[in-house]
Amino acid sequence: MQRIKFYTIDLTKIKGRGDVKCPKCGISISPDDENEDVYTILEPVVRGNYLEKIILKCIKCESQIHLTGFQVFSKKRSQ
Ligand SMILES: [Zn+2]
Repeated sequence: MQRIKFYTIDLTKIKGRGDVKCPKCGISISPDDENEDVYTILEPVVRGNYLEKIILKCIKCESQIHLTGFQVFSKKRSQ
């Protein structure tokens, strides 16, 4: 049996264009990419009226990746 690994990526700590890579296999994951060849969204977690995190699964290596840090962007937009 293969264990599924979990990783957390905080978007506020990513510099540059916001490119995310799978911590295990290194494949590039773009949150704007709706094509599910690279990853699939398992569950968006919404708290109040902002997106708290998105749980993704890397299709290549099957790791689960928890993308956090969306609230920073929401705050900027609501002002
Ligand atoms: Zn991967």
